[in-house]
Amino acid sequence: MTAYPDTSQPIPVTLIPGDGVGPEVVDAARRLVDATGVRIAWEEAHAGASVFRKGVASGVPQETIDSISRTRLVLKGPLETPVGFGEKSANVTLRKLFETYGNIRPVREFAGVPTPYAGRGIDLVVVRENVEDLYAGIEHMQTPGVAQCLKLISRKGCEKIVRLAFEFARAEGRRTVHCATKANIMKMTEGLLKRTFEDIAPEYPDIDAQHIIVDNCAHQLVRRPEQFSVLVTTNMNGDILSDLTSALVGGLGFAPSANLGSDVAIFEAVHGSAPKYAGKDVINPTALILSAVMLLRHVQAHAAADALENAVLVTYEDGRHLTRDVVGDKLACGTRAFTDAVLANLGRVPSRAPARSRAQLRLPATPAAIDLVRPGRREVVGIDVFVEAALPPAQLGPKVEAAAAGTAFKLKMISNRGTVVFPLTGTQTDVVDQHRCRFMALSPSPDLGREDVAALLAALEHQGLRWMHIEKLQAFDGKAGFTKAQGED
Ligand code: NAP
Repeated sequence: MTAYPDTSQPIPVTLIPGDGVGPEVVDAARRLVDATGVRIAWEEAHAGASVFRKGVASGVPQETIDSISRTRLVLKGPLETPVGFGEKSANVTLRKLFETYGNIRPVREFAGVPTPYAGRGIDLVVVRENVEDLYAGIEHMQTPGVAQCLKLISRKGCEKIVRLAFEFARAEGRRTVHCATKANIMKMTEGLLKRTFEDIAPEYPDIDAQHIIVDNCAHQLVRRPEQFSVLVTTNMNGDILSDLTSALVGGLGFAPSANLGSDVAIFEAVHGSAPKYAGKDVINPTALILSAVMLLRHVQAHAAADALENAVLVTYEDGRHLTRDVVGDKLACGTRAFTDAVLANLGRVPSRAPARSRAQLRLPATPAAIDLVRPGRREVVGIDVFVEAALPPAQLGPKVEAAAAGTAFKLKMISNRGTVVFPLTGTQTDVVDQHRCRFMALSPSPDLGREDVAALLAALEHQGLRWMHIEKLQAFDGKAGFTKAQGED
């Protein structure tokens, strides 16, 4: 991690204005950061819609990548993902290019902002894994009518995000970390985060570590949000929960974020480009201003960060300059007037906001090993072959059994969207044309013979069955590395 002990030298930061309301909120944050007296050497760079329109499929041009590689710090506005131009989101491109694996999304109550939760002291942080999970973007149409998205979770990714959550809790003197997963259903993927959390928690005996099922977490967040302090979770869960938590304190206008990697940090609001408000001077810039506060803390400009955060809190306490999302159209002030009010409040201290003592966040060391988990023994016990067939199970099953006859495999079962449909079970499964055929090897071995697999695939094709995906059934140290289908014994 880059150290910034000396803020007397200008700190280079890449500034991406972004799309829609981006330029307005970025301009507000930039003015305020400059007004704190911290010397930033802003390098303006571009990404998003305008770049897609120039034909850059990633939405991020090389000049911007070069700037970030130099500065390793970014303050950015939201980027639109235009339908029909590039194939990937420019935001996801940036996060993946610079491996910003941890997305920190704090929300806190603002005195003066009316919400159903006012007075309950909400002050919590979602720590969202930022590069894995369904956002790996590995999707296939397996048949013309059946789509698949791979949910990839690694032990390495889990270790990094879990340690980041505990370190963040320590830096802010927080006492509890909840890990929210769907491990009860997705035992391998979501379960890996839960297991990793339980393995690492003893390294942080000063922090109370709790696991919570993510759907109950959403429910608890609405009922009693004040019970949470730090919530660590997978990418998709974190995306959804953090929009929910922003609504608890007044909406997306109040939700800042930091995307942290070992080398690069990108600070941005949680919200998007809100195109209908672009250029109208009505958007609330608080989320991006607070993202800039997070940037200042990251570079150890703590006095400036505190001054800017306090000025925002005082502005809300005063209640005279509030944007449309807080007070509605008739009473509202514009983005620029709000920013001017914050500027005028620099140096003032809020009377109703509890102060938090902070230590510098210690970014966890990233494990160097690529294969973080090395089993003593591995075996391949069978193979799942996914086939396309518009046949009812009673007709498909005998064909697949006949295909396996004489090969190195025996059909164990066929499932349709995760439920066993052959041998016939009498379930009411509404069968579609993508089936998983599970074959067990007649003699398990360290690996499958390539000829054996080819012979099985050829036999399936001979039966008129089109295969589109195969997956080895592996066991590591005697433990199955695959789940059973619903109804499989
Ligand atoms: P959005 O831009 O976040 O806007 C959704 C709604 O949230 C707005 O209509 C507005 O609600 C409210 N809102 C958002 N920001 C606000 C602010 N600063 N102050 C007050 N209210 C605010 O979400 P979207 O419309 O789904 O997405 C628009 C585009 O942004 C899409 O292209 C999407 O891909 C992109 N996006 C980018 C990022 C990013 O760059 N990190 C994140 C999310 C989405 P009301 O209508 O109730 O006033």
